[in-house]
This record gives sequence, C-alpha cells and structure tokens, in this order.
Amino acid sequence: MKIAFIGLGNMGGPMAANLMAAGHDVTGFDLTARPDGLRMADSAAAACAGADVAITMLPNGTILRQVAAEVIPALTAGAVLLDCSTVDVDSARAVAADAQAAGLGALDAPVSGGIGGAQGGTLTFMVGGDADAFARAKPLFDIMGQKAVHCGPSGNGQAAKICNNMILGVTMIATCEAFALADKLGLDRQAMFDVVSTSSGSSWSMNAYCPAPGVGPTSPADNDYRPGFAADLMLKDLRLSQQAAVGADADTPLGQVATDLYRRFVEDEDGAGRDFSAMLPRFAARGRA
Ligand code: NAD
Repeated sequence: MKIAFIGLGNMGGPMAANLMAAGHDVTGFDLTARPDGLRMADSAAAACAGADVAITMLPNGTILRQVAAEVIPALTAGAVLLDCSTVDVDSARAVAADAQAAGLGALDAPVSGGIGGAQGGTLTFMVGGDADAFARAKPLFDIMGQKAVHCGPSGNGQAAKICNNMILGVTMIATCEAFALADKLGLDRQAMFDVVSTSSGSSWSMNAYCPAPGVGPTSPADNDYRPGFAADLMLKDLRLSQQAAVGADADTPLGQVATDLYRRFVEDEDGAGRDFSAMLPRFAARGRA
C-alpha cells in the first residue's frame, strides 16, 4: 500500500519503520522529526498525494483537526484516514465526519503498549469507524500491533482508550497509596506484592507494572522511575476522560480525584518527566494529608 505517515515522534517513528520494513511504500511528514531511512515530504498534503491510507500520530485533538483540514482534501475518494493519536472524542468524531463527507474512510485507532509496543509491533489498537474501513486497515494493524479491537462507530476507539486509562490511573494511585500505607504498618513490600498480586486487590498496576522497586516483574520502578508511561501522558488521558465525562453527563468521582492528584504531581511537585508509577515515592514521603 501507499501510505502517508504524519507525526513521526516517539510512537509514529517506529510505527512507520515497521510498515516500511513490511514492504509498504511510506512517505512521512513531521514538523521536526526526521527518522532515518524514511522518505519525507515537504508538507502533510504532499505526503498524501496518491496515498491509499494516511496515518496520523499527533500530540492532541487541536493539532489533529489542523492536520486533517490539510490532509482530507489531498486524499482521493476511497482512501482511509487512520488516526492513531490519543485525542478527545469530539475531535475524533468531527474529523471522521469531515473525512466521510469527502468520500474517505475514517478510523480513530488509539493505541496501548507505549514506545516499546510501537518499536516491537505489539501495540493494541482500539478502533472506531465503519467496518469496511476497519477491514481495509486490518493488514496494517497486524504489522504495527498484536491486536485490533473494533469498538463501534467513530469516536468509540477514543472512548475505549480514555475509559481504560481512567481505570489505569485510578488503580495505579490505589496501588501506590496501599504500598505507602503498608510501609507505615511495617508490612514488607515483597509480602504485600505476594498477597495482593494473587488476591482480590490484584490489577495490571500491581501484577505487571509494580510501582515498588525490586518487587514483581521488571518495571520503570526498577529504573529510577524513568518512563515507561510518563505521568504527563497519564494526566493528559485523565483530563480527556473528565472532559468526556462532563460532555456525556457521567459521574466519575474517582477519575476526577485521579486527575487532580496527577495534575498536582506533574505541575506542582516533581512528577513531570517521571513514570506515572512514581506516585509510590510521592505517597511514601508524605504523612496523612
Ligand atoms: P511525540 O511528541 O513524540 O510525537 C508527536 C510528533 O508530532 C512530533 O514529532 C511532532 O513534531 C509532530 N507534530 C506536531 N504537530 C505536527 C503537525 N502539525 N504536523 C506534523 N507533525 C506534527 O508524541 P508520541 O509519544 O509519539 O505520542 C503521539 C500520540 O500517541 C499522542 O497522542 C500520545 O498521547 C499517544 N500515545 C503515546 C504513548 C507513549 O507512550 N508515548 C502511548 C500511547 C499513546
């Protein structure tokens, strides 16, 4: 396939490289990034000339809307606009509606799996959009990832992503504050892990990404909390969940508390640039607020 790839940062760069390695004809565009070995165009529109699929992997919904306004007229009817960024549900649905009005297929397909998943081609895609566009993009999902779940119409991929990450933010905070409580009660962290990871308090945050250094499988905690999944990105996703909750009139009190805690951690404390599991040393250093 002839593929345009716009947004070649930490995630988009390796995803584009995997598509190229699988034999696809990829042309990239990015305002700053210049990945080795990738043919680059002078603009997003130029990258899209003659493309069967245009993939975007951009920082947020505002930028996605700007790029889509340039890209949609540059694609020919029948092509697919495949956005893999994490953005707000409203932006995803607006961009998809514009693309469909221009005769294009449109998919919102945010990912889980981080930079390691992008490099290894093991991402999970959560996909919103029509079944025909999903079927056409499926061979690309199979190269860039290990799983693609079709979640329903446009915007539902973003809905799945922010609901998942709201659970992740809440369970990570719960896991970290429980470790900090266990410390103060004199409970050994290894014993805490051995019990909780096989009991009803278990979760991905505890079992697969344990925030306590030296306990459980290797995680960013064992690398001085270098990300991994940065607290800043968790804050971005939690804010998207609360923006969606307000728009949909959904009651998400724990999501709101998690957003407030990560906002303080990133903006007022030392959390910026640290892994989101660095909430454990934050709680451990504090007394009861
Ligand atoms: P990044 O900042 O490394 O890359 C974004 C790229 O977009 C940059 O290279 C930037 O120059 C480019 N860009 C910005 N505006 C542009 C424009 N107008 N035209 C062309 N290029 C433009 O970010 P990332 O870590 O690659 O994340 C990309 C998306 O993936 C985000 O939505 C993020 O939330 C999501 N995501 C990231 C991770 C992760 O672990 N990094 C995991 C899951 C999802």
